[in-house]
Amino acid sequence: MNDTEKNLIIMENRDQKTVLKGLTLPELKEYFANSVGQRFRGQQLFNWMYNHLATDFDEMSSVPKLLRNKLREETEIVTLKYVASEVSPFNGTKKYIFETNENLKIESVIIPDGKRTTLCISTQVGCPLDCKFCATGLMGYKKNLTSGEIFDQYMMTAKDYGEDRISNIVYMGMGEPLLNYAATLKSLKIFAEELTTSISLKKITISTAGIAPKIKELADTGMNVKIALSLHSCFEDIRTKIMPINQKYSLQENIDAVRYYAKKTDTRITFEYVMLKDINDRPEDIAALGRLCARIPSKINIIPFNSLKHMNPEGLSGELEPTPQHRIEEFAQKLRDKNITVMVRDTQGEDIAAACGQLAIKF
Ligand code: SAH
Repeated sequence: MNDTEKNLIIMENRDQKTVLKGLTLPELKEYFANSVGQRFRGQQLFNWMYNHLATDFDEMSSVPKLLRNKLREETEIVTLKYVASEVSPFNGTKKYIFETNENLKIESVIIPDGKRTTLCISTQVGCPLDCKFCATGLMGYKKNLTSGEIFDQYMMTAKDYGEDRISNIVYMGMGEPLLNYAATLKSLKIFAEELTTSISLKKITISTAGIAPKIKELADTGMNVKIALSLHSCFEDIRTKIMPINQKYSLQENIDAVRYYAKKTDTRITFEYVMLKDINDRPEDIAALGRLCARIPSKINIIPFNSLKHMNPEGLSGELEPTPQHRIEEFAQKLRDKNITVMVRDTQGEDIAAACGQLAIKF
């Protein structure tokens, strides 16, 4: 047998290996019931992988050596490879770059912010949505991440940064979580198990550009995570210009969906609002936001726009300008005068290109 043939066999075996990372508790129990007739081992593996963040079978002292050897041959735990990380000297934001099996790169970001430290994770490599203000959109779409790859971003950063130092998780990195619904939901089911980590579902936010039917479906799962809708305009025509997905799922449908979500899960909706000069920062925008927030239990998260000019994009993306800081403050104050809860987000991580909408790796 020559080397190429040997490599092919190794690759085939690799393809056949069951990837344990990303399996939910019922799935792990099923796997061990079928493979060794010991359903309870599923619970053990769940515990080792997700609670103790074990990445090597030899760490799993309660699993007999023979079974560990079998698992090493037939299964895999690690789904992502660490590539690099970088810390901002200004605010401590830490960006991680990981690589998938296909050698595609993704980013996760840790954002310390006073009492909270939030981990921002990706759900796709690239993004198919083409929002005009977003760098990830400019790089196009490569693939959906698996549930293992989504969860691994938590495991790998928690191991490096300290599990007890991460208090919140936002699905707000690269990609649209609700267009990768199955894997996103599976990753939530892993967080939802009592045994897993110190992160409860209440501390998890799914950020979506607005895939209305999936928002409703998520409400019906009983997962009770928080939803953030990337609103950015209360007017259909303007929203369609900056977010083409609005043609498929209109603002009206999304408003109906988040109202349903808020009611069903008894949570407040976050409306994300990236401030684009002369596009969504006008007096009529304040009035429309006031009407919207009066109808839905909600708060507004204002995000200063991180310009894309350094990427030299064509069309509207190249023309968009940030609203000046003093006008952002005025805008926020006028909303607060209407009794709306408004947060103005810092542009965290701009110096290491880890800020919102800056997550794009050339590949
Ligand atoms: N697809 C999801 C999650 C990824 S984007 C969503 O659309 O919500 C995460 C947040 O960053 C969104 O609110 C998005 O609108 C915002 N964002 C994207 N590009 C940005 C930019 N250049 N400056 C500031 N915020 C941006």
